[in-house]
Amino acid sequence: MTPPPVPAAARIDLHAHSTASDGTLTPAELVRAAGEAGLDVVAITDHDTTTGWAPAVAALPPGLTLVRGAEISCRWHGADPPVALHLLAYLFDPAEPELGAELARVRAAREVRGERIVALLRADGVELSWPEILAGAGGGTVGRPHIAQALIRAGLVATTTEAFGPEWLGERYRLPKDDIDVFRAVRLVRAAGGVPVFAHPRASRRGRIVPDELIVELAAAGLAGLEADHEDHSPAERAHVRALAAELGLFVTGSSDFHGTHKTVRLGAFTTSPEAYGRIVAEATGVTPVASA
Ligand code: AMP
Ligand code: FE
Ligand code: FE
Ligand code: ZN
Repeated sequence: MTPPPVPAAARIDLHAHSTASDGTLTPAELVRAAGEAGLDVVAITDHDTTTGWAPAVAALPPGLTLVRGAEISCRWHGADPPVALHLLAYLFDPAEPELGAELARVRAAREVRGERIVALLRADGVELSWPEILAGAGGGTVGRPHIAQALIRAGLVATTTEAFGPEWLGERYRLPKDDIDVFRAVRLVRAAGGVPVFAHPRASRRGRIVPDELIVELAAAGLAGLEADHEDHSPAERAHVRALAAELGLFVTGSSDFHGTHKTVRLGAFTTSPEAYGRIVAEATGVTPVASA
């Protein structure tokens, strides 16, 4: 199947979350919002899951092309303690069993970890209910943003940003996830016909970042691109990512990392060039982009 053509001046946003993970719009609402925002291409990239793909495809508005993807929770073991990082994976085959099993393992581990975070909070007298938080995730991939919402509802913090501060989920009540080794993830995404892109690689305000030497090694291992334009990167960090990508022959992307009302960023706040999008489509052999019938 040939992918739908996109206009030369297409507006392309390759990183957005739905209620299948920690976004606040359902997959159907997400694609409708992307159409209303004037996007030509949007990617659904929920954390560690593909469950949003089918409802997003079913709700595609005319004129919008959907890139099916995921944002995979990874870890680099070259530092002590290991560093968490996110790998965007585009157009991979969701039926590939090894990658599917790894994603299922990570989702299950997130539930164990979320429950442990809530237990730590409760031990300090913060009366949150894990069953309620899990139910609030509605079967989607659960994460700290769901606990952050519970802290807001309990009146303990005013904003998600405050909930991610050092007193709360950013440090004091932060527990590591059981993620996928990043080299293994790159290999599994490629084996499933997907195209791996390092999400917000210099976003130091989220936590520790990895050295450029790792990115050099990942490029040799099959990494295809780097997300450069992202709200968590300063202009200097964006320029650094671009220069590194050029040196390594990787493409760069730009994206909103839209999470609905869990974040303030809007769909299309940052965009990807049609050339970079073309490289993703050309390299993918798992599934194709889809447009409404
Ligand atoms: P988790 O996957 O459970 O570790 O939670 C990480 C998620 O929390 C990310 O995918 C973002 O959606 C969100 N997040 C991370 N850092 C922040 C922050 N400083 N402010 C708001 N949301 C954040
Ligand atoms: Fe998120
Ligand atoms: Fe991310
Ligand atoms: Zn994201």
